[in-house]
Amino acid sequence: MPATDLDQIVNLCKRRGFVYPSAEIYGGFRSAYDYGPLGALMLRNVKNAWIRAMVQARDDVVLIDAAILGPPQIWEASGHLANFTDPLVDCTNCKNRFRLDKLDDADTCPSCGKHGTFTEARQFNLMFKTQAGPVEDAGAVAYLRPETAQGMFVNFANVLQTTRKKPPFGIAQVGKSFRNEITPQNWIFRTREFEQMELQFFVPPADSGRWYEYWCNERLDWYMRHGIPAEMLRLRPHGPGELSHYSAGTSDVEFRFPWGFDELEGIAQRTDFDLKAHSEHSGERLDYFDQTTGERYVPYVIEPAAGATRTMAAFLLSAYDEDEVNGEARTVLRLHPRLAPYPVAVLPLSRKDTLTPLAHEIRTMLSERYLVDYDETQAIGRRYRRQDEVGTPLCVTVDFDSLDDKAVTIRDRDTTEQQRVPVDDLLAAINDKLGF
Ligand code: ATP
Repeated sequence: MPATDLDQIVNLCKRRGFVYPSAEIYGGFRSAYDYGPLGALMLRNVKNAWIRAMVQARDDVVLIDAAILGPPQIWEASGHLANFTDPLVDCTNCKNRFRLDKLDDADTCPSCGKHGTFTEARQFNLMFKTQAGPVEDAGAVAYLRPETAQGMFVNFANVLQTTRKKPPFGIAQVGKSFRNEITPQNWIFRTREFEQMELQFFVPPADSGRWYEYWCNERLDWYMRHGIPAEMLRLRPHGPGELSHYSAGTSDVEFRFPWGFDELEGIAQRTDFDLKAHSEHSGERLDYFDQTTGERYVPYVIEPAAGATRTMAAFLLSAYDEDEVNGEARTVLRLHPRLAPYPVAVLPLSRKDTLTPLAHEIRTMLSERYLVDYDETQAIGRRYRRQDEVGTPLCVTVDFDSLDDKAVTIRDRDTTEQQRVPVDDLLAAINDKLGF
């Protein structure tokens, strides 16, 4: 049973060091979170799993890492200065603020329940504005990027020139984005600082419909391949009134959160909107010349845009389970081995000096290839339970027999089954069980 209440995961994550409220010793900073020892590893694994599928496994996508700070020109050209807004309303009774498009009833305040107390909607720009350098004048204005995508568009010509790719090809990026959300909510689902994993896939205009279908299916499949059950996912095409200013068609991959289906990722047909806009504003040519056909054209773009932090919440919620082992209740995160903070833990049966050298030797050997946790505190049963709760797929136990028979036990998180394996075969056995 996946988690039905967000608090189950929020509490586990706080208690075990996945996610802490930011600046907690100062009372917290609304909507900001810090990723602790386990969360930092898991978030990195989520991003790596995306890069593996989107870049490493393909020969038609390259990775970049563009600046977070940018000049206003980028955001003027992209339309974000004019259009990246949410409609904001204030309740004149309780003074709370809401995003009009996210209210169930546009006339009733969800906070105090009064009708007809909302102000007229105002368009609120979500970009964080700052200044670059010591002088506060108009020339110093800079923005924190609200999406990573523009980094791909403004580098289109650079990448084309340096990689000699030709459409269909993609530019991928993973990194932080910032939005001054009116109502950050639901833990790491909607925060003002978050991480995105985005691909701009450039195609000949006539092929864009086909590639749009392809990426919708491929992205939905990625979540399933990494352990989210099919019934917790759906692909939802946007209605005409919902489309972003640049989009000719968008579908969202949605996940069944405890509050209902909500977005994990948007797959948008951005047409040639961005390349044309940047070309017009910068005066640079941003198109592609096909030498085989002698045709020059501005490629269309299909953009699968996912949130890394939001996706991490979905992986945690769907992996959460409670069951019973030997009559004892346990909490277990059935995370995909590639996403678990630690794929392996080494647990010497006791803290006795006699076991420590061999246990350390095994930890060192495994850590050449895997991130390995090492734990020698408390009884072995409790240590298994701790590893289950943070999703460690395999525990390697070193016991007193190990000193004689040069073998150790591998315990499986999901089945709790144990298997004796010679130390010499340990790496191969783990590789076999984890699948990497
Ligand atoms: P929403 O409608 O939820 O505000 P969006 O449609 O504006 O999201 P996109 O611009 O399509 O979002 O961004 C792509 C992805 O980036 C989203 O699907 C989501 O996973 C992630 N994302 C966007 N905003 C946030 C946020 N404030 N906090 C965490 N993740 C976010």
